[in-house]
Amino acid sequence: MISILGSTGTIGVKTLSLLSNTDLKIFALTAHTNKKLLANQIIKYNPSYAVIKSKNDAEYLKQLCDKKKISTKILSGESGLTYVSSHKRVSHVLSAIVGAAALRPTFNAVKAGKKILLANKESLVMSGSLMIRTAKKTGAIIVPIDSEHNAILQIITAHGSTYNSKNNKYKDDIDHLYITASGGPFLNYSQSQLKRVTVSQAIKHPTWSMGKKISIDSATMMNKGLEVIEACILFNLKPSQINILIHPQSILHAMVHFCDGSIISHMSAHDMRIAINYALTWPERKSLKSNIKKLPLKELFFRKTKKNEFKCLDLCIKALKLGGSAPTILNAANEVAVENFLQNKIKFTDIPVIIDQALKNIKITKAQSIKSLLLCDEHTREYVKRYIDNKWK
Ligand code: NAD
Ligand code: MG
Repeated sequence: MISILGSTGTIGVKTLSLLSNTDLKIFALTAHTNKKLLANQIIKYNPSYAVIKSKNDAEYLKQLCDKKKISTKILSGESGLTYVSSHKRVSHVLSAIVGAAALRPTFNAVKAGKKILLANKESLVMSGSLMIRTAKKTGAIIVPIDSEHNAILQIITAHGSTYNSKNNKYKDDIDHLYITASGGPFLNYSQSQLKRVTVSQAIKHPTWSMGKKISIDSATMMNKGLEVIEACILFNLKPSQINILIHPQSILHAMVHFCDGSIISHMSAHDMRIAINYALTWPERKSLKSNIKKLPLKELFFRKTKKNEFKCLDLCIKALKLGGSAPTILNAANEVAVENFLQNKIKFTDIPVIIDQALKNIKITKAQSIKSLLLCDEHTREYVKRYIDNKWK
């Protein structure tokens, strides 16, 4: 059975449309505030449980289930998320909540030894090797859904590399790899043009259709930086082994350069259903209708990113190298900055300034436990909110 954390989001909705390709039954669906969509999903899929943040919304859903004689049990808050991510009847947990809010439920699923289909990159960025070490102990398997990491998994699986859970390595045959970035809507914008970009321009990604937060992260290239951290953790690589290529068509997602000079790449239409479908059925491959004929194969363009070109990307590499709680500070500062940009309180170009400020001023500690990382997350959010209030009042 599967619990889909964040079933009302872009990834959650796509996952629900693909479940018929598997034998998985739905244990739980969860949402933050979108009670209307969650209600429709309960009526359509009849899960054993549904979880929503507030008690009021949970009450609304309970009454709806009573009225329609639906057996779904309704839970609320963090305890509800913990329950459905670690329940013994659950074999798979799809982690598609956006941001740091996914950390605790995702980690609970890892502790309970589940197969985690991981769309949420922030939880891995925050917990780093702690998540991987725990998975090693409990036998949890982490299957990435992020398209570039899913592409790397596809390349490695097709190539025959086997995962060794004792040392968290896929054989010793990767020399280095490439992940691609579309560059977002503002590729080639000057600093003065960037200062003037609006929220509606920033959330309009040129190739992918995604939630607001990841769309802004793609526009700042923070998303690619988070993905470098994600790739280092998932595939046990050093930052120097990961290269980023600007590739505006978003057709080639990753290339792995093996130790014998062979380079294997993965291409597909920019359709997250392909990565989700593969994660759901991995290590098997099940058919899915895709618009492969429309690929603009004559026009594929690639270039390496330049030094100092993308501030958010550089800050991610800095945090990765600093280690400990630095990626948690980076992530929390970014989440607060993005929220403020979405509310038109700061400019697009203020986002990296705020993250840099947090990384310079908040004490970096060891990433010892999820509890300490969540405290660091909370502390950073308070710091950044104060900083923004003082600077932009
Ligand atoms: P989204 O904003 O469309 O959906 C987010 C989901 O999380 C919703 O179901 C929402 O109800 C839930 N949620 C939000 N805040 C929550 C909270 N505080 N507590 C509990 N639930 C909460 O986001 P998305 O685009 O589907 O992205 C989800 C995750 O997947 C992100 O981490 C993103 O980086 C990652 N991802 C998304 C894509 C994509 O194409 N959308 C691609 C790669 C990775
Ligand atoms: Mg990605």
